[in-house]
Amino acid sequence: MKISLFWHRRDLRFEDNAGLAAALQAEEPVLPLFIYDKTILDKLEPEDARLTFIFDQVERLADEAHAADGGFVARHGKVLDVFRQLLKDYDVAAVYTNEDYEPYATERDAAVAELLQKHGAELRSFKDQVIFAKDEVLTKNGKPHKVFGAYSKTWQAQMKPEDFKPHPSARLLKKENLAQPIAADKTRPTLQKMGFKRHEQYTVPAKLPPPGVVKDYDKTRDTPALERGTTRMSVHLRFGTVSIRSLMQQADKLNEKLLNEMIWRDFFMMLLWHFPNTATEAYDPKMRHLPYRDAPKEYKAWCEGRTGQPFVDAGMRQLNQTGYIHNRARIVAAGYLVKHLFIDWTLGEHYFSEKLLDYDMSNNVGNWQWMAGTGAVAAPWFRVYNPETQQKQYDPDLAYIKEWVPEYGTDKYPKPLVDLKEGRDRAIEAIRKGRK
Ligand SMILES: Cc1cc2nc3c(=O)[nH]c(=O)nc-3n(C[C@H](O)[C@H](O)[C@H](O)COP(=O)(O)OP(=O)(O)OC[C@H]3O[C@@H](n4cnc5c(N)ncnc54)[C@H](O)[C@@H]3O)c2cc1C
Repeated sequence: MKISLFWHRRDLRFEDNAGLAAALQAEEPVLPLFIYDKTILDKLEPEDARLTFIFDQVERLADEAHAADGGFVARHGKVLDVFRQLLKDYDVAAVYTNEDYEPYATERDAAVAELLQKHGAELRSFKDQVIFAKDEVLTKNGKPHKVFGAYSKTWQAQMKPEDFKPHPSARLLKKENLAQPIAADKTRPTLQKMGFKRHEQYTVPAKLPPPGVVKDYDKTRDTPALERGTTRMSVHLRFGTVSIRSLMQQADKLNEKLLNEMIWRDFFMMLLWHFPNTATEAYDPKMRHLPYRDAPKEYKAWCEGRTGQPFVDAGMRQLNQTGYIHNRARIVAAGYLVKHLFIDWTLGEHYFSEKLLDYDMSNNVGNWQWMAGTGAVAAPWFRVYNPETQQKQYDPDLAYIKEWVPEYGTDKYPKPLVDLKEGRDRAIEAIRKGRK
């Protein structure tokens, strides 16, 4: 029997899923699929919290598919090898999926499309994880926006209520639309079999934040000591356990500031899709050869939260212990690394990419370049965030600092790595000279 596969990647949900809804409305019965991609997994530490999160979501999806009298396939391997085998095991008419805009993903998907074509099947991709993708929001001259303010304005002018309309995927998840797996697919890879150990980190439930959190967002978002001053949706947006459309709609109704913050996400995904080179090099060509310092001991102290700058250290310890770091602390910690220590932003980006549960290449690269002043965004290179001024403004009673740096104020707390003024002047001078 001819079937379709629905390949989950950054969309680990059945509700409001664009590609899945399209698959379920087509003729062939659908078998949902997840691939534990060896190319990605081989680079992870054995106790990666993200993999535990993904594993739990895949198991939940499998249970939900079984409850609807369907099957769910999960395989572990290199993506092309897995598809070669799937094409032998099943009579596949098409593979449905949702678009992924990262450089590795676009290359991988092109290779999968080619392989499928050779076997008379097709890859059908849908927009799901953003409101506007790729070149849907352009300048009047038809070019990608480079300045966020103008992008956000065009985005908001183009946005219509239909853009938030949910896709009917969950409703269509019925026995008559679902295919059954072969016997070998009745068991799924376990973390242990893939060579990993469980490592659970706290995440808020995969559902919309309470309306109160959203309503107060503009007033509470910059206080890192608050437990839920922000939505904490980043991990769910990263893995698609909550639909972007539902959260955007809530923000559109209740809080303009939150809507605008989420537009940054569309903006950075658009930028990375247009300029994949910016994953590793400065967007601004003038900023590609800066004489960053080679300072491994200082970098290590930054990673471990031992710089002697309490706001920076609090953020880095929150990151190391929980896999999450408040946005204000991300700004302070990143600003300190790229300016006061004048260490290459790609090293900071890399450390965040290993530790963040919500790690998202486009958001991480975009924000790091913004902090370093090397990006497309209008972030002047001479802007420096002073961690002490930031603390006075955003953590005036030291509640956040005391939570993460209990020895602060005692002689056990390290001395500052660098005098803030000296560090700042050193960076400004070096960038001024290094810009071509
Ligand atoms: C140096 C640095 C690195 C970052 N790396 C990441 C990353 O890897 N992954 C990630 O999701 N976010 C990243 N951010 C953006 C932001 O810090 C997080 O999205 C936010 O702290 C997550 O918490 P929240 O879900 O409660 O956010 P909220 O403030 O409640 O915002 C809601 C959602 O809007 C989006 N958003 C908010 N702020 C930004 C922003 N500045 N840029 C892009 N999207 C935004 C996120 O999807 C977020 O979940 C980074 C910021 C900085 C300064």
